[in-house]
Amino acid sequence: MDAVFTTIAYSSPVLLTLAAIEIYWLKRHGRPYRARDSLLSLADLAIRRVVSAVIGGGVLITIARWIPFRWLDLPLRSEPGWNWLNIGILVLAVEFFYYWFHRWSHEIRWFWATHAVHHSSNSMSLLTAERLGWTQSLSGAALTFFPLVLLGFKAQDVSVVLSLNLLYQFWLHTEVIGDLGWFESVFNTPSHHRVHHGANPRYLDANYGGILIIWDRLFGTFVAESSAEPVRFGLVKPLVSNNPVYIALHEWMNVAKDVSSHWRSPKRLLGYLFGPPGWSHDGSRLTSAQMKQRVVDP
Ligand SMILES: [Zn+2]
Ligand SMILES: [Zn+2]
Repeated sequence: MDAVFTTIAYSSPVLLTLAAIEIYWLKRHGRPYRARDSLLSLADLAIRRVVSAVIGGGVLITIARWIPFRWLDLPLRSEPGWNWLNIGILVLAVEFFYYWFHRWSHEIRWFWATHAVHHSSNSMSLLTAERLGWTQSLSGAALTFFPLVLLGFKAQDVSVVLSLNLLYQFWLHTEVIGDLGWFESVFNTPSHHRVHHGANPRYLDANYGGILIIWDRLFGTFVAESSAEPVRFGLVKPLVSNNPVYIALHEWMNVAKDVSSHWRSPKRLLGYLFGPPGWSHDGSRLTSAQMKQRVVDP
């Protein structure tokens, strides 16, 4: 486990090299490349590192310290009693909880306010994977993984396996890799993840998996990429800004605007904070589910 931790810590130079190779490949093949989007993703990464250093491990690790018990004892690292089965269980369980963490990050506006940053790039390149916003550890979304801590895994181990899961997802953010045959049926791939980043109504709310695509197939959120409908990357209402602070906080500002106008009504307040993005008390806006419904079943 410690070796895994070291791998994650030193992965940045490898990832940056891969991103440079991608740029070279795109230029060589005369394909478009938006350097501005990549620079904004790098700015997001740099500021997130600073924010993480200041606030520490975030909600999951902080709360886990207060929990005096675990139902089971499931040691992983070089502690007595660790075994590969525990590691296998944790990897699969993190994937399952990641599916819900990611799905709720789209379906609950409080969590979407951070996750919208990841979807704000209007193009798809490897560095998009590094655009994750800075407010994740404050929003509490990581508590989705809390049952694993109660079950018996250490918060630190859950966090390391989650980092590995995110590391896998780096290569999904590219237009360079096409259909991968049988691999597409079980694993998350660039094709599946391009759909996830699509703002086309039929591609909304799809393909939430991390390493695997099986939970999407099982829970009915899988959508395959179609050559008949090229993906338009970005938010439904495209975000055009060169300001990394605005990009990171734009949805929080929208939330604040709605809350300041509707805080007197508890029902509206809850809807604007925790309802699906696009929810409005008078139906004047559309949620992504409503947009999708209009296309799939006009
Ligand atoms: Zn997403
Ligand atoms: Zn992504």
